[in-house]
Amino acid sequence: MGEFDLIRRFFQRGDGTQAGVDVGIGDDCAVLTPGPGAQLCISSDMLVEGRHFLSTVEPARLGHKALAVNLSDLAACGATPRAFTLALALPRADERWLAGFAEGLFALADAHGIALVGGDTTQGPLNLCITVFGEVPRGTALLRSGARAGDDIYVSGRTLGDARLALEVFRGTLGLPGEQFEAVRRAMELPQPRVALGQALRGVATSAVDVSDGLCGDLGHILARSGVGAVLEVDALPRSAILEAQPPAVRREMGLAGGDDYELVFTAPPSSREAVQQAAGQSATPVSRIGRIEAAAGLRFVDAQGQVLPLQLQSFDHFKTA
Ligand code: ADP
Ligand code: MG
Repeated sequence: MGEFDLIRRFFQRGDGTQAGVDVGIGDDCAVLTPGPGAQLCISSDMLVEGRHFLSTVEPARLGHKALAVNLSDLAACGATPRAFTLALALPRADERWLAGFAEGLFALADAHGIALVGGDTTQGPLNLCITVFGEVPRGTALLRSGARAGDDIYVSGRTLGDARLALEVFRGTLGLPGEQFEAVRRAMELPQPRVALGQALRGVATSAVDVSDGLCGDLGHILARSGVGAVLEVDALPRSAILEAQPPAVRREMGLAGGDDYELVFTAPPSSREAVQQAAGQSATPVSRIGRIEAAAGLRFVDAQGQVLPLQLQSFDHFKTA
């Protein structure tokens, strides 16, 4: 199977005509027409074998995750997904692997109504890079820079930290019974990007970021870009029953600094609490209020009684040596 056969067989679908796509796969560039008055939101995320995923992951789940992590960035900007490109380095053209990968990839693409419009394919160590293109009405993109002192801090989803629990099981630092491991493994391998919530938060949230490297680290980006600090109520974080059953130190570490959660952390003034609940209801996505933005720089932690907790946490950093 040659390079072009591979593209045609696994990545080119139908006759290539899709809403909003003037030219898709097969020419030198894809050509898209943005909606009237729209701004483009563009983001890339790369997944490297051994770094972001294990060689044993089911190909369909890898296809899902490669697109999910990118859609999560669009969600954090409140963007409506439009299209994506896929740059792929493969050690060999393994048909079973390619079929599975494409199945997971397109299932999520179809769920969000977006088209694969181009990419690049080369032989090499397994490496996936997706670029997503989304749109917002001009001036409405949610940014990291808009948080203000007094704003509430929210996080989406029912649990933070399950994906990291799965990683720790793979690393052998903790053990879980079979069905619990399967559940946290799903959280790690099949994250659900909060696209509908992000869109519903346009005009409501003052800032947003998606949690890829851990809640504290990613909230830290909001604080830095907005020039503010925050207090987090550690026990208000949403936790699964599986994480709840872990020792307190593990529970806090996984929730606050776990990573790979792909939930949205966002801020909004207390006057918008009802609007936030409406956005959550409209997008069928649970949200929890977990803290408050303050004028003084830094991130502080309190328990449910408001007692200060002296926690030291680090978020995931690819270039930091332990
Ligand atoms: P070029 O040489 O002009 O960069 P290629 O010959 O690499 O283009 O690719 C041919 C066509 O197939 C282009 O339209 C490109 O966007 C598309 N393409 C290549 N690889 C992929 C892929 N993995 N997924 C989707 N489209 C792809
Ligand atoms: Mg070309």
